[in-house]
Amino acid sequence: MSPFENYLARLTHAAGTLKLSKEELEHLKTPDRILERHIEVKRDDGSVVALPAYRVQFNNTRGPYKGGIRFHPAADLDEVKALAALMAIKCAVVDIPMGGAKGGVAFNPKDYSKAEIERVSQAFVRAFAEYLGADKDIPAPDVYTNAEIMGWMLEEFQTITGRTEPGMITGKPIELGGSLGRDTATAWGAIYVLEALRKAIGTPRRELRVAIQGFGNAGAHAAEILHALGYPIVALSDSKGGIYRASGLNPEEVNRVKHEKDAITEMYCQGTVCDLEKLEKEGARIITNAELLTSDCDVLIPAALDNQLTAKNAADVKAKIVLEIANGPTSPEGDRVLAEKKVIVIPDVLANAGGVTVSYFEWLQNKSGEHWSEEEVMKKLQPIMVNAFEAVWHKAQEHHVTARDAAFLLGVERIVEAMRAKNS
Ligand code: NAD
Repeated sequence: MSPFENYLARLTHAAGTLKLSKEELEHLKTPDRILERHIEVKRDDGSVVALPAYRVQFNNTRGPYKGGIRFHPAADLDEVKALAALMAIKCAVVDIPMGGAKGGVAFNPKDYSKAEIERVSQAFVRAFAEYLGADKDIPAPDVYTNAEIMGWMLEEFQTITGRTEPGMITGKPIELGGSLGRDTATAWGAIYVLEALRKAIGTPRRELRVAIQGFGNAGAHAAEILHALGYPIVALSDSKGGIYRASGLNPEEVNRVKHEKDAITEMYCQGTVCDLEKLEKEGARIITNAELLTSDCDVLIPAALDNQLTAKNAADVKAKIVLEIANGPTSPEGDRVLAEKKVIVIPDVLANAGGVTVSYFEWLQNKSGEHWSEEEVMKKLQPIMVNAFEAVWHKAQEHHVTARDAAFLLGVERIVEAMRAKNS
């Protein structure tokens, strides 16, 4: 099943529970606008390539379209459509007045120079400028795009329109109007949700041993914050492999090694040569990413890639809680197995929604000309995440469904309420 087919199947299921009309269902099945172009980009050697570029504006019933732009060789229309639909759901779950969109350019940025990536970013904006804007459609970073790229896009947009409009894009550098706290927003958002869940199930932090796959922006911040809060961090990994230590790891130390040597495993190994004495003394083990997912822990946090928990490994997951910081880390089959095992899966549309929420704060600051401190940002983020968790948790109990199904129902319900209010 493709990502968009999966969305449609979930929607059709939700339509029955929510008693949606035929028109409402049709509206939610169909993107408002699909923009598809080949953007021409000059390579450094003077040749010109035409790259497939997409922007899908799915639904703006609750507010302007909002969603990231990914630079990835596998980006295609089906995936961008599904991600755009899920953005609409995500914004509704955290109850921020934004709709759903997503963008992508199909190329491998690792094969491109920085100057070439800047030209790709500018070409993307030139192709879609008339559809973007602070009150129309507001992009943000996603896979292999970052604050610097958002800055290039903003400058290109402002050159084209002749307007100063920092709110047309979020996740931009602070000096161009970015928000303080954006870099830790996703991690904090997930942790506010985990804290609310922990209180709901009545488990102390020290009894929730955490394993995190991925040590990038979201995963590394999550590890450091959880450690500071007193959660034992037993496993961490990056693309090169991972480490497990039953008595707990210190993420700050891991971060230092990762920065110096570019691999978490360098804590104990130089390349393939490992310091067995140190490993034994510290009671640590080198593990693969596959082993991390099924390691002995209580909370598993996938914070790297999609499709990590599948029919192949979900039965072996030992965690009681899966907190999905990554987008789409669990396949539909994996999800079914985890549900049968009564593993609590906090879905991506809730767990990682701190990122889009602080993007919304950035947009608000740009519109009002205000600058909030990081403390202010977190103070506003926490109740939004806790309320979203409580609404999802309540819905799961009301309908006897998983947190993923409950979040989907809640998101669709809120979009449909807005559609009905508009039409009445
Ligand atoms: P990032 O690029 O900063 O980090 C990704 C991490 O994953 C890196 O540590 C990388 O080494 C690791 N990784 C790559 N391949 C791996 C593999 N095969 N096994 C294990 N680890 C691997 O990305 P990020 O911003 O931290 O995002 C991570 C995930 O969280 C993505 O799915 C992203 O869509 C999602 N997310 C992030 C944000 C955000 O604000 N950063 C918001 C919402 C969702």
